[in-house]
Amino acid sequence: MIHTTMWTYPWDVIDEGVDRVIGFLKEEVGLDAISLSTVYHTYDQLRTHIPGKKLFSGYEDAIYFQPQSELYQGTKIKPHVHPMARDQNPVRIIAEACRARGLELISWTVPLHNHYMARQHPDCALLGVFGDRYPGCLCPANPEVREYVRGLSLDLATNCGVQMIEYESLHYMGFGMFRNHAKVGVDLGAVGSLLMSLCFCDGCVQRAADRGMDVGELKRQVEKWLLDIFEEGPPERSVEEFVADEPLVNEYIKMRADVVTSLAAEVKEAVKMPVSFLYMGNYHNNGIDRKPTEKIVDWVNVLCYSGSPEEASQRAQETLAGMDDPSMLICGLNGHNPIDSAEQMRDIITAIYETGARRFSYYNYGMISRRNLRWIAEAIAAVRALDAGAEE
Ligand SMILES: [Zn+2]
Repeated sequence: MIHTTMWTYPWDVIDEGVDRVIGFLKEEVGLDAISLSTVYHTYDQLRTHIPGKKLFSGYEDAIYFQPQSELYQGTKIKPHVHPMARDQNPVRIIAEACRARGLELISWTVPLHNHYMARQHPDCALLGVFGDRYPGCLCPANPEVREYVRGLSLDLATNCGVQMIEYESLHYMGFGMFRNHAKVGVDLGAVGSLLMSLCFCDGCVQRAADRGMDVGELKRQVEKWLLDIFEEGPPERSVEEFVADEPLVNEYIKMRADVVTSLAAEVKEAVKMPVSFLYMGNYHNNGIDRKPTEKIVDWVNVLCYSGSPEEASQRAQETLAGMDDPSMLICGLNGHNPIDSAEQMRDIITAIYETGARRFSYYNYGMISRRNLRWIAEAIAAVRALDAGAEE
């Protein structure tokens, strides 16, 4: 069975008309679900198919529903509600329309990539080896952050009418999640970026100490390596070689992976509903350890964005090859550039279908043209016909 969804912004649905948009996505595009951003970072979005003004900006990271404040009593981090959700509850309104139309609602949730919270609570942000608080990233090892994510997840699961929670950024952010124009004039290379991404906040250091690590020695080494890289450039060694050669770094990265995996387990336990985990980033920079993660969550999502059917299906194939349960895979597909024909849109999804993947998520309703939405509808119809033929 095929399952299709589309990443969708609540402001686009509300501003274009809830019944019209939800009806269109269900009846004309043929989706099974929408993946609605409920907790989101900042953006400046060009909206080509909305009447009137075309630019919409979210100046602060925010949530798009009305929170139940008791769920956040255990943490000093309180949800930042977008102005559009003060007098109405956009997620609830959209959930009602989805229920009426028989469209599944998935919460597309971005909890940790959050400049606003990192500014409000600097002690909850990632702490680099030189003592810098990183602007766009809450640390998943911080107990306040973990309790916030748990409260947020429970709020979504119990109050928002969603049937599944998809997490993006439920892991460490790599180095370079800047809010302003980045001014970096040296080549850090992959090893330098990894070292800059290591967090030495109290939460991380405590967990490393619990593993018997000499964190002071690791910090001294990391500082020295980075100062050398700033002057001399990155080492010849790949990240994999570097980590294999350096036991303290290797152990610290294992600690980070445990932080992420255990957070996924905590939210899954709290919400008691299907959960998906978006794979953006990797084990070394982000603490994403796929095998144990796939034992906890129900679905994993990999972006197969490409204009080439071969390249897109190869990404799906590579992911499937590493999975014990290939039926867990959701493939993210781009509905925007560089897709420039109906055939290309169709060939990409059917090529991925041939790898065995059956769940697809298109990016993104409000950003793409009406023409591309029609092409997506045709591509979904084509892959459903293929699937119906295969099941006969
Ligand atoms: Zn940390």
